[in-house]
Amino acid sequence: MPSGIILVADDAAQNRSVLHSMLANQGYTVFEAEDGATALALLNQHAFDLVLLDVYMPSMDGFEVCQRIKADSRTRDVPVIFISASDSRLDKVRAFNVGAIDYITKPIHAQEVLARVRTHISLYRHQRELEMLRAAQLDQLKALDEAKSRFVRAVSHDLKNPLGLILSAADMLRETGLTNEQSELVTVIERKAGFMLTMISDLLDLTRLTSGTPPNYAPTSLRTLIQEALVGFELQAENKQLSFAVYLPEEDAIVEVERHAICRTLGNLVSNAIKYTEQGSVEVHVEVASETFSIAVRDTGLGIPQEELPYIFDKFYRIPQPAYRKEDGTGLGLAIVKAIVEQHQGTIHVETAVGKGSTFRVTLPRQAKHSTKHQTESDSQT
Ligand code: ADP
Repeated sequence: MPSGIILVADDAAQNRSVLHSMLANQGYTVFEAEDGATALALLNQHAFDLVLLDVYMPSMDGFEVCQRIKADSRTRDVPVIFISASDSRLDKVRAFNVGAIDYITKPIHAQEVLARVRTHISLYRHQRELEMLRAAQLDQLKALDEAKSRFVRAVSHDLKNPLGLILSAADMLRETGLTNEQSELVTVIERKAGFMLTMISDLLDLTRLTSGTPPNYAPTSLRTLIQEALVGFELQAENKQLSFAVYLPEEDAIVEVERHAICRTLGNLVSNAIKYTEQGSVEVHVEVASETFSIAVRDTGLGIPQEELPYIFDKFYRIPQPAYRKEDGTGLGLAIVKAIVEQHQGTIHVETAVGKGSTFRVTLPRQAKHSTKHQTESDSQT
């Protein structure tokens, strides 16, 4: 026995009563409305599974009623079937345009009406079930994500202190006067513990960055910011015999950003550029436009294979080829860059060619943005 609550809206009492008894005989609960206003009022009071709507009614016609049903978020999804004596194609097109799910022409045939009613109610219910399932799954995912973040935070904090102690102990050991061999071993301890500490700090920062907290915006001189972010990199580039150049706009600009975060973004990109370049140059180009400013880090290094581009911003992802793997890295640098750029509502764009080099260009709004639109793109050229 089918079930469901149906609203029949028609100004002709005779039509209403025919439909009413036909549907009630099948087990449906039926409400009647003699005009559009009554139909809308009833729709606000009951959770209908379907509306059977007459096209031509005085004062408010079926098209307008349907439009209002579809404009209200509470009733928008309820299926509406038009019933009309008019077989005009224009009326049918209009009915579908205002959101009808079906159109039945009078004189009505009981079997046809019942079949359509059954189908649309069943579709509507399945759709609602799917939506509820999706909402429940989304809640579950959110809860899991939250649990995962809590876990990462807890584990990271618990690891940070012992690692700090290991590093201090290694430092104290050095003071005791070590043989060369012992000193080399202590260096290994320091390097590995330092690496773990960096990884843990990066993970903690990433958890914070992706938790939805907005940047700590402050007006900053772009020139000073860039200079501060690049301290030490010229020397690093020199050690690898790479040329290093910074191109700043002639006039300084004041930008609203979280200073440390943007320093870090630039630091990560330049550090990668130096790491993954064996010869040639690393350049930083800074440009200012009316609403945005951009920082491009260009290298003449390994480049990135096209098929790797979708993954390089993923947490822990490192290109699985020896040329890239011979460099130390956690695979968190670009994930942090992406998170910071998104947090600032900016974009990051990559142009790369294997064997020729890469350019990572970050574009950020000059003024703090508070809406939630994010964007990240990757492009390549070969
Ligand atoms: P990592 O700590 O490994 O450097 P990142 O998240 O910073 O991690 O970068 C992810 C991967 O993307 C790197 O392991 C490397 O394979 C690749 N990559 C990043 N920057 C460059 C670059 N400038 N040139 C070539 N490959 C790069």
